[in-house]
Amino acid sequence: MYKKSILIQVFKFRNIFIKEDSLKNGFFTGALICILTVSCCGCRGDLTSVTKPLLGTAVTITLLTHSENSEELLKEAFYAIEKVQKELSIYDPDSEVSRLNRTAASGKQRTAYDLFYLIRKSVEVSEMTDGAFDITFASAGKLWDFSNDEFVPPDDKTVKQTLRFISFRNLLLDRNEKTVRFLRKETKIGLGGIAKGYAVSKAVEVLRSRGIAGAIVACAGDIQVIGNNNGKPWRAGIKDPRGDSVIGTIEMYDGDAGSTSGDYERFRIVNGRRYHHIINPSTGYPADSGLISVSVFSDDPVMSDAYSTAFFVLGFDKTRKLLKGMKSFSVVLVGSDMKVYVSESLKGKIDFRNDLAVVYF
Ligand code: ADP
Ligand code: MG
Repeated sequence: MYKKSILIQVFKFRNIFIKEDSLKNGFFTGALICILTVSCCGCRGDLTSVTKPLLGTAVTITLLTHSENSEELLKEAFYAIEKVQKELSIYDPDSEVSRLNRTAASGKQRTAYDLFYLIRKSVEVSEMTDGAFDITFASAGKLWDFSNDEFVPPDDKTVKQTLRFISFRNLLLDRNEKTVRFLRKETKIGLGGIAKGYAVSKAVEVLRSRGIAGAIVACAGDIQVIGNNNGKPWRAGIKDPRGDSVIGTIEMYDGDAGSTSGDYERFRIVNGRRYHHIINPSTGYPADSGLISVSVFSDDPVMSDAYSTAFFVLGFDKTRKLLKGMKSFSVVLVGSDMKVYVSESLKGKIDFRNDLAVVYF
């Protein structure tokens, strides 16, 4: 039932590789090995993998290396990701996005190409998803700051007060001038729901331009693959949102991209309630749609990233409706009852753990 492959990249495992011998019944049981540089022997092309802390997570690039210049290639690919971080991090006061957040309410601001492109794409996804994806979620500022050990859920009044500022309609874009203006002083943007997919696309672009035959670029839950793994498809695992295992594994072919959003990485449980980092822009609270993990597969890592966040907010029924008009996207949705809903189009490419109830739609 389980198709063999050499290396598995697990979505949302912060880039931990599983060697094949740690698989039991097709799924590993916990012996995780975090490898900074791994060279996989016994296969025709060696795999070289390097992990670096970037974009608030661990970024791993794996190359199927046949050449001596892999070090140089990795350097260039990581540089592309560092550039994205430098421009788009809201934690860096000198980034383009921080500058925009400080100035865009006072008048239109000319914006760097990457940032403008991502804001434009984000607004398109907002329009498509009725505002479920909305980069102005960041207007809630530190209300949902889970890095703070003393996190206390904000009171309802404070949450409601932020709602006026959270709307992509508060962003005024001029496509010709590449300028952005915020219509409200308190409106801020954050690109955490789309920047990792973009970073992946930039690194892949670099590697492709150098003619690399096989690679995986992974920013935590955002992955795109190039070529294949010694003639076999790459295989990625989807993390069990409530356990240490994976719920299943999927074959990935040249150009395939995938992104997973979940409520199990950045969260706090207070008085039995789970508060996590994906905000429903219409309530101001962490999304509570009945889904606990959403993976989106397409050929565009930027769109996979944005839509995984959006579908997480929308829940199963609305996602299913939207997908009817989005034929190049496929999904794996996990409900809070651990029921798994999977796009028909993934049949034959994806295997699930035997104990799970899986419904194709
Ligand atoms: P992760 O960042 O863990 O890979 P996601 O891609 O789902 O997961 O992105 C979650 C991040 O997206 C949050 O940390 C936050 O920066 C941002 N975000 C939260 N809610 C929304 C939303 N409704 N629309 C757009 N971005 C959001
Ligand atoms: Mg996302």
